[in-house]
Amino acid sequence: MMFCRDQRVAIRSRTMTIRKDIDLRVLKKKLLAHRQEILDDILSSEQSRQPVQLDQTTVGRLSRMNTLQDQAMALETSRRRDIELQHIDAALKRMTDGEYGYCQSCDEEISRKRLQIDPTASTCIDCAR
Ligand SMILES: [Zn+2]
Repeated sequence: MMFCRDQRVAIRSRTMTIRKDIDLRVLKKKLLAHRQEILDDILSSEQSRQPVQLDQTTVGRLSRMNTLQDQAMALETSRRRDIELQHIDAALKRMTDGEYGYCQSCDEEISRKRLQIDPTASTCIDCAR
């Protein structure tokens, strides 16, 4: 018998299939700690950020290139942090919704090992490929 995803989720919450092989509290702690780390990083990089000056007369061509490179790298770092934060928040929401630990794509259990390595994983290893 085939169920659509919503039906399966409803059945799961009705039967309260809480995974016993994963420790949600430990994983949640890990997620929150990582979240705090990222927020601290954002704060400290904002504090250390200097106004970028591209003074043609005092700064040589090479250092201008370096400055632009640094800017691009800082942008990339902040972009990656944003994505990480989104993943963490989504994982925390799944914990609240009782969906955590189940693949968002096929609804199978995500392996314990995979969740320990990456608590934000939202798909099983097969669907992640
Ligand atoms: Zn899957």
